[in-house]
Amino acid sequence: MSLQLHNTLGNKKEEFIPIKANHAGIYGCGPTVYDYAHIGNLRTYVFEDILVKTLEALGYEVTHVMNITDVGHLTDDADEGEDKMLKSAEERGKSVLEIAEFYTKAFFNDTERLNIKRPGIVCKATEHIADMINLIKKIEANGHTYMSGGNLYYDISTFPKYGELANINLEDLKAGARIEIDKNKRNPYDFVLWFTKSKFENHALTWDSPWGRGYPGWHIECSAMSIKYLGEQFDIHKGGIDHIRVHHTNEIAQSEGATGKKWVNYWLHNEFLIMNKGKMSKSAGTFIVLEDVIKKGFSPLDYRFLLLGGHYRSQLTFSWEAMETAKNGRKSLNTKISKLLEGLSQEKIEELKNLTNTLTAEKTKTILKDSPAKKYFIDFMEAMEDDLSTPRALSELQGLVKDKTVKPEQALTAIASMDYILGLKLIEEAAEILSGLQNLSDNLIDEAEICKLIEKRAAAKFEKNYKQADEIRDNLKALGIILEDQNGKTTWKRI
Ligand code: AMP
Ligand code: ZN
Repeated sequence: MSLQLHNTLGNKKEEFIPIKANHAGIYGCGPTVYDYAHIGNLRTYVFEDILVKTLEALGYEVTHVMNITDVGHLTDDADEGEDKMLKSAEERGKSVLEIAEFYTKAFFNDTERLNIKRPGIVCKATEHIADMINLIKKIEANGHTYMSGGNLYYDISTFPKYGELANINLEDLKAGARIEIDKNKRNPYDFVLWFTKSKFENHALTWDSPWGRGYPGWHIECSAMSIKYLGEQFDIHKGGIDHIRVHHTNEIAQSEGATGKKWVNYWLHNEFLIMNKGKMSKSAGTFIVLEDVIKKGFSPLDYRFLLLGGHYRSQLTFSWEAMETAKNGRKSLNTKISKLLEGLSQEKIEELKNLTNTLTAEKTKTILKDSPAKKYFIDFMEAMEDDLSTPRALSELQGLVKDKTVKPEQALTAIASMDYILGLKLIEEAAEILSGLQNLSDNLIDEAEICKLIEKRAAAKFEKNYKQADEIRDNLKALGIILEDQNGKTTWKRI
């Protein structure tokens, strides 16, 4: 089977044919670093990670570029509202650059905890202003711009393909225009390439440009930086589904308006993570960040596991119950894998851990020869090649760990290789279970069981069986439960 991806451009699944053999150039819109990423944003980056790792497992060399938006993104994607960075800096009494630095670090801290590989090229908008100005000059030279009210606009009527990605035509756009229209625009869907007339007094970050001192519109950074690092034509551009209609549509108009060439061959968009109470918002208390997930006793990998259980093109509803199910599911999977590790030397276990980072799909198939594990692995890869179907891939993994006819070492080789894509640290976590380490942090033992053991210990003490009483206390300690005796009563707490 060959890799099939659903292309938003054309709205169908297509075989992935790269521009350069065995290489994939990918650009993904990165975060606007004005606040912590919420877990919805993080769904987008977990999906991107799965895409990159699937390509790598298939033997592609991947150049993965991600931007960091630290200027110009307004609270509305279509030139309305306030500047997100500026607003956040004012609210927090910090400079824009301080805000950007803090939340960029926080973002990569989150992605690391989710076992997301850092893109090879991470580029900040504020460090690429000259590239943006040069690109805007080309767009201008090709007749796609006009100055109005002090800002430079893109005239979408000069780009007949405008709206192709979102499958909308210009007439529909006019009919659907919102009431509040920037009076400087000829068409409501024209957009700003360069602002000189800031809506905000003393805009913190401004640069000199041929159009006057000012700052770039939000969309231009993605065109300028992707072209700089991936060339005028590249393979895959991705982002969340909300970006199709405005941001990515405008990116295409800019890039193709500047170069006159088809810019990107495959557009991939993931659906949203939604809350059962509606949109993720601070005021409704549904703006959940990774730290909240951790504070509730979940591992970031439980969240990753939850995400893999849904296909990227389907909406996923978040709830704490769903997190609980994911946690138990991951625990049960890891426990089964730990059983496969029983009896293996420490050296062999270390070797398996390293395999995850070194195996490609082809190598794995060769190693597995005619083992029954190979069939699971092939089906796993076919699921991934079929538009990255992680739910089907996971069920192949589940089938493999349950199959008693597969020799543990062969099953483990397949599992290690599958985990390159899944990123669940399967061998590592299973090895921890085997060594008993994980019991410390998990609620393997529930309250009722603890109380029973406390009673049993009290009975042992009463019978002067101190050895047994101490054993019970030590066993509980190994599970992260500390007993405290005071005034003849025993209380307990988790470490
Ligand atoms: P932003 O930092 O606002 O530019 O958003 C970063 C990424 O998160 C973008 O690709 C968005 O499409 C994506 N995104 C925003 N909200 C959600 C959500 N609820 N679920 C999934 N992705 C989202
Ligand atoms: Zn973008």
